[in-house]
Amino acid sequence: MATELHETIFIAKQERHKNLFLNYRNLNIFPVELLKDEGLQFLERLYMKRNSLTTLPDNLAQKLPNLIELTVVILSPAIGNLARLQSLDLSNNALQLLCPDIGRLRSLRHLRLSNNQLKCLPPEIGDLQELEMLDVSMNQLMSLPDRLHSCVSLQNLTVDHNLLSHIPRQLCWLHRLNQLSIAANRLSFLPLDLGKSRELQFVFVDNNVDLKGLPSYLYNKVIGCSGCGVSVQVLEGDLGEALSETLAGLLTEVKVVGSERDYVVPLEELAMRTLHSIYQHRPTDLVLLPPISLPKSLLDLLRFPLGHCHRCSQAMFTIIYPKLFPLRDTALAGVHRRTTVSFVAYCCSSHCLQTFDLQG
Ligand SMILES: [Zn+2]
Repeated sequence: MATELHETIFIAKQERHKNLFLNYRNLNIFPVELLKDEGLQFLERLYMKRNSLTTLPDNLAQKLPNLIELTVVILSPAIGNLARLQSLDLSNNALQLLCPDIGRLRSLRHLRLSNNQLKCLPPEIGDLQELEMLDVSMNQLMSLPDRLHSCVSLQNLTVDHNLLSHIPRQLCWLHRLNQLSIAANRLSFLPLDLGKSRELQFVFVDNNVDLKGLPSYLYNKVIGCSGCGVSVQVLEGDLGEALSETLAGLLTEVKVVGSERDYVVPLEELAMRTLHSIYQHRPTDLVLLPPISLPKSLLDLLRFPLGHCHRCSQAMFTIIYPKLFPLRDTALAGVHRRTTVSFVAYCCSSHCLQTFDLQG
């Protein structure tokens, strides 16, 4: 076996191979032949699945300077030096932790981490500005890092089969995100803005049994939501009850469920909207305020409001007027026959509530 390995590497060096397959070699140390002399200066792709490596050599980047794709079973800080790496496949292992050095792979476009034992992702993943595809399905993630929204190139995010109870609202601001797969998690609600981005076209939410309602932005973008929630039968006069049931699992920020009789916007909401309007139009003025003038939590809220009115797009902070649309009443009712959840729209005022229609 060892001789065969030497021969393979020798030939790769001689013939200046760009690809090298060292899968299923039962290696427990990184082959030093790969790093001897000038190493493999021309190597671009190295596949080392199904070995028993425990660490990567520190001088990996120096010896394999042109590596753009690596498939290995372990991850050590040395990996962060591979500045040109574009594709990294660490799926089907037993990874419990992802080292923060992953954030140094500034050229990375594809990252596969499916079928591991990850409980969290390092915030440094947000440093991957070129990342287009991230697959973290089949892990034990209970949350996603807020900084994931810094991955501005992300187009395809797959988080199926994890333990997520919520997804960060910041994901709604990933303007290149085209496909989001969050099936088989523990989601009971989705961010109100999810689907607002035109680029986001496909959202998979199957098998989230506690999911009771979908943001109305998703009403023509969801592909399958079987195994979600329970069917809500909205009968004449029972709307309030159906709403309460559907909205039971929604955000804690939802403090007031409005009705058509509400004409007064609560003071807290009014104050936040006024501040937000100042913040939007003259942001420099607010930056100049001493920190004590406005608590950080309020400043954060001003920057990232709870949601936007689906009717008029105005920012909302503490109150939303939900409006429930049973799926059978929407254009998609015939398409998703198995779907049991309803769509929920949010309005900033009773006026918007009255005039909002999902079909329009
Ligand atoms: Zn409105």
